[in-house]
Amino acid sequence: METKYIFVTGGVVSSLGKGIISSSLACLLKARGYRVTIQKFDPYINIDPGTLNPYEHGECYVTVDGHEADLDLGHYERFTNVRTTRANNITTGRIYQSVIEKERRGDYLGKTVQIIPHITDEIKRNVKLLGNTGDFDFVITEIGGTVGDIESLPFLESVRQLRWELGDDALCIHLTYMPFLQAAKELKTKPTQHSVKQLQEVGIQPDVLILRTEHEIPQPMRRKIAQFCNVSADAVIESKDAPSIYEVPLGMHREHLDEIVLRKMGVPVEGEPHMAPWLHFVERMNNATEEVTIGLVGKYVELQDAYKSISEALFHAATYNDRRLRLVYLHSEKLNADNADELLSPLDGVVIAPGFGQRGIEGKFVALKWCREHDVPTFGICLGMQCMVIEFARDVLGLPEANSTEMNPLTPDNVIDLMEEQKSISNLGGTMRLGAYDCELLPDSIAARAYGATRVSERHRHRFEFNNDYRRRFEEAGMRCVGENPAAHLVEVVEVAGKRWMVGTQYHPEYSSTVLQPSPLFVDFIRAAVDYRNSK
Ligand code: GLN
Repeated sequence: METKYIFVTGGVVSSLGKGIISSSLACLLKARGYRVTIQKFDPYINIDPGTLNPYEHGECYVTVDGHEADLDLGHYERFTNVRTTRANNITTGRIYQSVIEKERRGDYLGKTVQIIPHITDEIKRNVKLLGNTGDFDFVITEIGGTVGDIESLPFLESVRQLRWELGDDALCIHLTYMPFLQAAKELKTKPTQHSVKQLQEVGIQPDVLILRTEHEIPQPMRRKIAQFCNVSADAVIESKDAPSIYEVPLGMHREHLDEIVLRKMGVPVEGEPHMAPWLHFVERMNNATEEVTIGLVGKYVELQDAYKSISEALFHAATYNDRRLRLVYLHSEKLNADNADELLSPLDGVVIAPGFGQRGIEGKFVALKWCREHDVPTFGICLGMQCMVIEFARDVLGLPEANSTEMNPLTPDNVIDLMEEQKSISNLGGTMRLGAYDCELLPDSIAARAYGATRVSERHRHRFEFNNDYRRRFEEAGMRCVGENPAAHLVEVVEVAGKRWMVGTQYHPEYSSTVLQPSPLFVDFIRAAVDYRNSK
């Protein structure tokens, strides 16, 4: 079968959940046996979101090949179990960078370089990159932003051209919002009509309309929208707010989204998607009534998207332990010795979040000391692991000024130090130790038992590392270095001996947790938290 291209655009307002809709469609097509991938085109000028503050667009997701990507790629992987790469996330910045490089090389043979055709050609080339590998039957392309934004125009123009070139092998899905006016007790179609008109003005006729709504949309209203928007009545479907994002694929199937898409693209619709494993997960999720309470200590807690992959990984793990996750966000700047008892004692487990820079770091030390002394299951991730090491050095090794050179370049005890390979780097973008690296685990470690393996591969995003000069002193005092990179001998995992579950990972296991393949380390952490809860 020729690769089919599906484009997903959004209108009326942002944050409608294009990423979840794209992921849900991909999930259904995959469950029908097709090979599917999803890519995201972001209209901003940054080359990638790696240099963006989490307050801007939430967490930065990392692909196995070390690309710093939009957090929607995390949803794509969690819903499809298909690994993404740098080809799955393109920004305006990257398109321009590549066109400008070509211009400097002289590739355009003296021509004037313009948005059309040069920028749009580059966008089209990138849209087809994954399709051309021959690895996929469907390539779903999500266009970031909202229709009508100046920034997304070149992307929409490229979609228009591709639609024309690919004929039936291309399809456009437009996601809009149906506001409900409380005073009139009425759903309103006008914003959707306007948004479709805006798409039509740039030459794109949507094939499928998905209406995000808080209330059921009556059939006559759907027919009215179909009529006004030139879309067949059966291709106007609703996406009603769901209690969990993981219900959305099931909702989209009830609305026949997968069938509509296949039919419109001329692919025979045979049988039903094999959603049994997914359904099983959703059942467990909904049947879990007993809680497990986990605290997440970080400095971006006002914006929960900043820790998206961690909260999802915790959620997967809780579900596989048949527990309902109660996640308590604890602001690391507000945590101190005076309120630690009150804030931390209700918790069954604590995660110390990744991060950069000094802000909020003291609160992480307070939490770590309290958890160590009260033997609460504790999971330090990246900066969280580094803090675990520093706190242990200060309190147990008796090195009160121990620190990371990230926080204090002049510390006498640099137990966390800049990696050798980072010392000559001055640019911030894309220069960290990024992507998947192997880690060898000691067989008698908590981590190895959790994974059921002594060799794992997980993703990284850091500049600083455990300083091996101190390794012996840590080991002698009870902090074991149980995981290391076999090639570079960088310490990847530490564990505090004699504790229920006190594990720090330099890598980010949360990035690889998916609905059907939860992270073993997270599952084991929640298991320990549940045991601890039961023992209280
Ligand atoms: N700031 C730390 C480093 O660069 C940790 C990074 C992180 O938590 N992702 O090594």
